[in-house]
Amino acid sequence: MSERDELVADLVAHGRFLSGLATVGVARPSAAAAELAGTVPAEPLPAEAAGERRGASLPAIRAELGDCQRCRLAGGRKTIVFGQGNPEAELMFVGEAPGADEDEQGLAFVGRAGQLLTDIIEKGMKLRRADVYIGNVIKCRPPQNRNPEPDEVLSCQPFLEAQIRAIRPRVLVGLGKFAAHWLLKTAEPITRLRGRVGQYQGIPVMPTYHPAYLLRNPAGKKDVWEDMKVVLRLLGRPVPGESD
Ligand code: URA
Repeated sequence: MSERDELVADLVAHGRFLSGLATVGVARPSAAAAELAGTVPAEPLPAEAAGERRGASLPAIRAELGDCQRCRLAGGRKTIVFGQGNPEAELMFVGEAPGADEDEQGLAFVGRAGQLLTDIIEKGMKLRRADVYIGNVIKCRPPQNRNPEPDEVLSCQPFLEAQIRAIRPRVLVGLGKFAAHWLLKTAEPITRLRGRVGQYQGIPVMPTYHPAYLLRNPAGKKDVWEDMKVVLRLLGRPVPGESD
């Protein structure tokens, strides 16, 4: 096992131990986690090793979404916010749903919470926002920014699933309760989930606080920074402020 796989295995095991997430919602454990559990061989599937099994491309997924009328949110939206960024991103952020600014511009995380997310990525993690991918559980703005309803989440689900299959990020970050619950198939409070690495379809997932929550509760920023440091380690990237 490479050093990175060992680190992933350690963090996944640690997260599962702490959160009791076990294998809920996990279709196929990552090679590292599966080896740890002794269930399947550590070797990736041959097709995955060859970089295949990406599924449909992002433009094809967007085309399939079309002028979506699959749920009631279609009636109140201005634009569908599909998500944007590097289609081959190693790191993918998943938020909840577009707000007013996103609905206007058709882009995820472009309002105040989006500016804070940009700062976390660029000033904190020293990555370029253009190098990551940013999407949402829900692609249309709920009226008055209310919480998404379960049937709305279900309507959007195949599209986010397909996006993740297309991008195949090495690490996913779930921003806030809705994204964390969607990715980890759990209903545990975000305060308990954050900071513990779980997994979605074998991809390590870091649940953390939503930037909109941080705007109201700036004290949470230090927890988010701790979470992002773990994300950088999972990616094998330098952690600013830490000497190697
Ligand atoms: N909040 C989200 O969860 N997503 C966005 O795109 C913007 C704000």
